[in-house]
Amino acid sequence: MTLLNLIENKNMNNSIKTNSTNCSFSLIKKYGIDVTLIEIISKIDIQFSFYEKSVILEKLLEAHELAKINVDVGNITKRGFASNVCTYDNIWALGTNFNNTRNEISSVCGERSAILAAYNASLLNYLKNNSDSINFNFKVKYICMAQALDLFKIDKSIIPCEDCLAWFNTSKYFDDDTIIFSFEKHRGNLCLRAISLSELLPFRNKKTSVEYLESKKIICSDFALNSMRMNFIDEEKIYELVSIAYGKYKENDMTELSNQNIACSIFANGNIYTSNKIDWTKRWYSEPLIHCFYDAVVENAENTRVDAICYFGDEYTKNNDEFNDGVVSIKSIGRIRQKFATNDTLIILNFKDYIQVTTIGEYLPMKFIQGYKI
Ligand SMILES: [Zn+2]
Repeated sequence: MTLLNLIENKNMNNSIKTNSTNCSFSLIKKYGIDVTLIEIISKIDIQFSFYEKSVILEKLLEAHELAKINVDVGNITKRGFASNVCTYDNIWALGTNFNNTRNEISSVCGERSAILAAYNASLLNYLKNNSDSINFNFKVKYICMAQALDLFKIDKSIIPCEDCLAWFNTSKYFDDDTIIFSFEKHRGNLCLRAISLSELLPFRNKKTSVEYLESKKIICSDFALNSMRMNFIDEEKIYELVSIAYGKYKENDMTELSNQNIACSIFANGNIYTSNKIDWTKRWYSEPLIHCFYDAVVENAENTRVDAICYFGDEYTKNNDEFNDGVVSIKSIGRIRQKFATNDTLIILNFKDYIQVTTIGEYLPMKFIQGYKI
């Protein structure tokens, strides 16, 4: 590939291209959608041409139809979601949510299903056009999320679950500019909602530290201060939680397989519970927040109430320091949010020069707005 080709290719990636078979916009016609009337609601500046907007709408409608058919013939949970994913190389792929059982083992959301389909399509594309001058660089640009629900019944936009957000929180295949599109009802009209990944995950680039000094200052957000006031948690308790998690981190020798050591402490029902990450085999481990919760739930059962969560540990696994794995398990927070914790539950993080106190609501802001109940 020549330099000119490369430049043209790069420019192409800044706009939406699609192959000719996808250009008929048959679903936009089928659903009688007037593209000019569809408002884009977003905090980010999106300058789409008519064509680009049409592509996103068509891709959302493709996902909507796939979600519908999945509920009718396939999906045993009868909850239909699907996504259409676009890479920076403008490769589109569809995926629907997939359930083998009703439990966690084999459920894959539409977003992750589509990302895997796009990844495979991208690999095949690379195989076809392989050139020594270009590296394989799979990265997700757009995720168009749709549901089986009839368009006229749509109210709020869909927000990815915490398992999907845990994927998006990693850095190899996603970046802050990845945009999530979905339909939303606004003033009675069908609209296009666009959310950047940085809005969904404002902490995704904020790396914590494993250096701890008791002299570090504590910085609390306004929400965190309010929560501390409501739950009678003072700075002394914050230091205590960090210090206990740090102590647990230092003594943990059960992470030799992954070489990612993480400890957690929680303040629940007036007590502090603490635990470590445990590696079972190379890929399988137990997450420290879940250990802490387990202990709290054994003692307090349905009355368990967690007011603060402190994470301490390695951001990276060994030999993976280019792409972070993260200390906080968004997946685990998803397990307990709205049941034993609330959006006001504190999250305490040890940064290099200070201790940050925030809340689950601020850590996962769109979930906070959505107020999804388990
Ligand atoms: Zn999900």
